[in-house]
Amino acid sequence: MPMTHTELNEFHWLADMLESVEVGLVVLDLDFRVQAWNGFMENHSGITASKIRDQVLFDVFPDIPEAWLTRKVDAVAMLKTRAFTSWEQRPYLFRFRNTRPITGTEAYMFQNLTISPLSGSTGEVEKVCLMVYDVTDIATGKRALERANEQLAKLSMTDRLTGLQNRGTWENLVDAEYERYRRYGHTTSLVMFDIDHFKNVNDTYGHLAGDEVIKHAAHLTRHNLRQSDSAGRYGGEEFGIILPETDAEGASIICERIRESIEQSIVDTTAGNIQYTISMGIAQLTDTPENYMQWMQQADNALYSAKEAGRNRVIVFQS
Ligand code: GH3
Ligand code: MG
Ligand code: MG
Repeated sequence: MPMTHTELNEFHWLADMLESVEVGLVVLDLDFRVQAWNGFMENHSGITASKIRDQVLFDVFPDIPEAWLTRKVDAVAMLKTRAFTSWEQRPYLFRFRNTRPITGTEAYMFQNLTISPLSGSTGEVEKVCLMVYDVTDIATGKRALERANEQLAKLSMTDRLTGLQNRGTWENLVDAEYERYRRYGHTTSLVMFDIDHFKNVNDTYGHLAGDEVIKHAAHLTRHNLRQSDSAGRYGGEEFGIILPETDAEGASIICERIRESIEQSIVDTTAGNIQYTISMGIAQLTDTPENYMQWMQQADNALYSAKEAGRNRVIVFQS
């Protein structure tokens, strides 16, 4: 049945529209040979419709996950229903460079994909149409938000000045470590330490220089610890360390190393070179403490003894 003039006209502007729409349109036969490839696909792939026509999609785009797309297309053809995948499940089907000027932070175009069945005159599905939507703007916004949230969560757990865990976070870990000991009986030790005569540092060099000293102590502490140890800033110039799987003797070795490296350091501040020392108290966990606070109290008692005994030393709590 030949087309009338009006029908032909209609076909022309319809084709024009599909050609220029800001959505990728690809028609495939069931052997994945490309039957149609619109302007969006030409522009982003750099491959013209005439060049790709009748070629097998996977030959031209070896990056496309063949097994996955085959499974999808088979389901669409068999069930005669549409299938949809979002960029969150699979960032893109076609690896196109991201050309958005504003969202240039992402290297590739994020895509949502719809696969539609196309029936022939017999009613059987003979072809499928892939619709590729550029969702880079949405994806970029969502990812930036996720990153910001992650950072926010991290920030609220750490101390701003030192980057160590803040008091609340650290105390929760002490509590958890205490419970772990109660359940499994693993050896574990707690350390509390405090900078000696810190008021003098502030009085002589000023509060900002004092902050530099606090940062320095935190840095050296972290530097001397293992991955599994947890250091926190307990108060102004007071710190705590959890040393899992470590007895008092092992803790003493670690603490001596920190104490010595601090004693031998010079903190170079705008107010002058500052030397300082710390006093440390250790409590290996036993069955005596009835809660984590009593365990902390033991470490604090040892710290107090270290101050009393003349400072710049490490003392282990004795019951
Ligand atoms: P000791 O050897 O007995 O510990 O003497 P100390 O002078 O260090 O005494 P203490 O530990 O009680 O002093 C804490 C001082 O630390 C008091 C406070 O002004 C100062 N401080 C607390 N937080 C900060 C801070 O964030 N920055 C600075 N620069 N100083 C702080
Ligand atoms: Mg002090
Ligand atoms: Mg103090």
